[in-house]
Amino acid sequence: MNEKLDLVKLIKDKINIIDVIGKDQKIIKAGHNYKALCPFHEEKTPSFIINYQKQSYVCYGCGKNGDIFSYAMEKYKISFKEALEKFANEANIEVNNYTKNTSYKNNSRFYYNVMKTIANFYNKNLIDYLKNNSLSLLEKKKNYL
Ligand SMILES: [Zn+2]
Repeated sequence: MNEKLDLVKLIKDKINIIDVIGKDQKIIKAGHNYKALCPFHEEKTPSFIINYQKQSYVCYGCGKNGDIFSYAMEKYKISFKEALEKFANEANIEVNNYTKNTSYKNNSRFYYNVMKTIANFYNKNLIDYLKNNSLSLLEKKKNYL
């Protein structure tokens, strides 16, 4: 199980997209959905639709769409990690409980090993290549001499 994803899911369960966007924009209920003036482009009539069920938004004016994380990243110019920490903080979730043993670290370990293997492979091949090439160059030189 990916614990980082679990944290995202946990945050999404606790944080409501209407509250998040409602801090920045005036939200109007429209049928099953909610709408607001788009926070990402200038407009006079709302084309920014928030889907409460899906906890997502889409703007029919500028095409921006996503969830609370992409909203915070775009709106406050923060990284995914910062958005994660911000919402975890607001939801009183201890991020450290999740990041201590995260798959992110396991992944970077995994990628490190993969990269090391690839580097070793290329190193060996490069040496072989240089050996073969310089040998054939020497051979060619011999032929010319
Ligand atoms: Zn827009």
